[in-house]
Amino acid sequence: MGKIIAIANQKGGVGKTTSAVNLAAALGAKGRRVLLVDTDPQGNSTSGMGINKRTVKVSSYDLLIGEAKASDIIVKSDYQNVDVLPCNISLAGAEIELVDMDHRESRLRMGLAPVVDQYDYIFVDCPPSLGIITLNALCAADTLMVPIQCEFYALEGLSQLMSTVRQVKRLYNSRLDIEGVLLTMYDGRLNLTQQVVEEVKRYFPRKVYATVIPRNVRLSEAPSYGQPVLYFDKSSKGADAYNKLADEVEFNNGRR
Ligand code: ADP
Ligand code: MG
Repeated sequence: MGKIIAIANQKGGVGKTTSAVNLAAALGAKGRRVLLVDTDPQGNSTSGMGINKRTVKVSSYDLLIGEAKASDIIVKSDYQNVDVLPCNISLAGAEIELVDMDHRESRLRMGLAPVVDQYDYIFVDCPPSLGIITLNALCAADTLMVPIQCEFYALEGLSQLMSTVRQVKRLYNSRLDIEGVLLTMYDGRLNLTQQVVEEVKRYFPRKVYATVIPRNVRLSEAPSYGQPVLYFDKSSKGADAYNKLADEVEFNNGRR
């Protein structure tokens, strides 16, 4: 049975999509069957995995509103063992449409259920908000991965995210657990960065990955070529970091 991991943080630009794309690719290259579910109307993980958003006819939007089955939406990526459930801007309307629908919080869970067995890992890349789409991701997920950018306001918003998690656990999904907290865009030359790392570790005892993702220009260049960094520049620091993170995720899940 595949494990569903939501990658969420309502702050934008913290590395959710970069982590979703590159961790998915790294695990796929290690032989795991991976599905990347894009639920951000920006569709950056769709395009980052090399899928042209303009050619996407059915998307996670259709899954959420119940107009299409997951198996009819999922496409193969060009990268080893990675499938994508794509998204495009049409999902922007879903927030409003879902408000009046039955089981509005569990539509992603229901939609993914028929394909969960076909994968080892299913990553859900969330939009930068705590709206109904992220709520669907948290209700569908076994665990939550939280990327945190190493910057001055890193902890801002985390108490809100954690209170949403507690609410989801109480009301809809009691098994929801923290998969791990990932420090991104690390720059060891800055004192501030070190302080942030210590603060985050205090806030999430034992949950912070030993692997830290460095600031690496190859990571920011790869998406415009529609390639995970592992394929774009295998010898980059970014590729190395996401490979190590994949090993850590495997270890934590008893698979290595
Ligand atoms: P989110 O999905 O949380 O909004 P992204 O993953 O899209 O964040 O990252 C925001 C921006 O920062 C993107 O332009 C991305 O290419 C860049 N970025 C992310 N992680 C790194 C990194 N480790 N080093 C350099 N640039 C990064
Ligand atoms: Mg994103």
